[in-house]
Amino acid sequence: MVAKIFGELRAFLSLRNLQTRIFLVVLVAGFVPSVIMRYGILGNYEERSVQQRISTVQNQLMIVGNHLISNNYFNTKPEGYTSSVSRDVIDAELEMISNLYEGRVMIIDSGLKVLKDTYGLSEGKTIISEEVIKCFQGQVTSNYDREHGYIEMTTLITDASSDTGEIIAVMLTSISNESIMTNMEVLGRKALILESLMIVIITAMAIVLSVVMTRPFSRVSQAISEVKAGYREESISVPGYAETDHIVEAFNQLLKRMRALDNSRQEFVENVSHELKTPMAAIKVLADSLLAQRDAPAELYREFLEDIASEIDRENQIITDLLALVKMDKKAQELNIASLDMNDLVELILKRLRPIARKKDVEVVFESMRSVVAEVDEVKMTLIMTNLVENAIKYNKEHGRVRVELDADHQYFIFRVSDSGLGIPEDALAHIFERFYRVDKSHSREIGGTGLGLAITKSSVLMHRGSITVSSIEGEGTSFTVKIPLTYTAGSAALEKG
Ligand code: ADP
Repeated sequence: MVAKIFGELRAFLSLRNLQTRIFLVVLVAGFVPSVIMRYGILGNYEERSVQQRISTVQNQLMIVGNHLISNNYFNTKPEGYTSSVSRDVIDAELEMISNLYEGRVMIIDSGLKVLKDTYGLSEGKTIISEEVIKCFQGQVTSNYDREHGYIEMTTLITDASSDTGEIIAVMLTSISNESIMTNMEVLGRKALILESLMIVIITAMAIVLSVVMTRPFSRVSQAISEVKAGYREESISVPGYAETDHIVEAFNQLLKRMRALDNSRQEFVENVSHELKTPMAAIKVLADSLLAQRDAPAELYREFLEDIASEIDRENQIITDLLALVKMDKKAQELNIASLDMNDLVELILKRLRPIARKKDVEVVFESMRSVVAEVDEVKMTLIMTNLVENAIKYNKEHGRVRVELDADHQYFIFRVSDSGLGIPEDALAHIFERFYRVDKSHSREIGGTGLGLAITKSSVLMHRGSITVSSIEGEGTSFTVKIPLTYTAGSAALEKG
């Protein structure tokens, strides 16, 4: 249990895990915009607040500037125009502004002399500042020094009554940004709380989504694991995404194929056991009946032993055929390819088989359309031809006929065996190439058939990259046609099996 949890955790932590990736994507997609938003909103707020503060203070300073002119603060009007009362009022106005904004206001005349300083430090002194000089040239400036916590600005005092709008003095004001910073701090704190809340929600969402979104994959792998333990189920069904549906479909096809293979293997083993047991049972019966008779005559012994010997021959035949088939099943099996005269080969085979045909009074004729030389494996080719001609003789009627034809075009040679025999029922045609399949079991056994001959024949034909077809009319006769390329091309393609 602990190991399982540990394993899951390790899988989750590895970046190869889809769950981890979904988790990270959701987390980043949710978290990054919230951080950008926080910094964006706070930065914008600071900028706007500073601008607003500058324009408010500028407006108030301009009003004061107008008061200064109208009250002849700079003695530009005739004597007696200004009174000490109005001067005090203006000073009070300036004080009020500097207190209100926690700042300092200086009034500087055109000779760069400080006429008034709300701090009272620089009055009478000369000030050489770039901003002041620029202001006297008509350029009003403002500057926000965040590091030192102040906003500095210059304000023009012009004589509106004169036509030229002459610059009489300049106000150099610096105010604190503390209140803005305090507001920023409060806002920042609220944003942080919201953000933390969002992180918790996003993390929870990321965990839920990563688990939910990968669930169909987990279900598929779980279903596959269950099947792995022993595929009892016909197929697995896990509704999910289109992608998992494809995986499930591919897996079900694989499962079907595995089951078919398993069934055919099982069937094969059953058939083999059955086929091998039949001669054994016969031998046992023969031996037992001999043993049961105390004084059995020597002729009876001889007769029974002959039967036993023939059953052993049959057992041998089955084993030989089986071994031939198994050998052919091995994909890597090499063919011994050589250029052979097919006419000669057919002649040779017919010569060997004619005695058997004669016994059944079956006439075998060979019709060759042309001389054919092809690249084949002699042993396998002999096996193909012998099996087909032998069957045509075996499953023939008394005084029947077997016709063997050989023809070729520029690519293939065609070997056809037609007989006037029993024929094969239509429903059996599809099965005659299967291992151990016999149309009439007892008859086939009687004439020594194992049911493996056509399976071996078909495998051999396919190994030569050829094809075999059959046509038959029950009671009239059968015709097998083998088509094989004249030149053998070894390919890496897997051997096709029928
Ligand atoms: P077997 O060893 O029994 O002959 P085969 O694989 O050679 O096995 O043939 C399978 C079955 O196909 C046979 O048992 C027989 O019933 C049928 N068959 C094969 N060739 C012929 C033929 N020429 N005419 C009629 N039936 C045939």
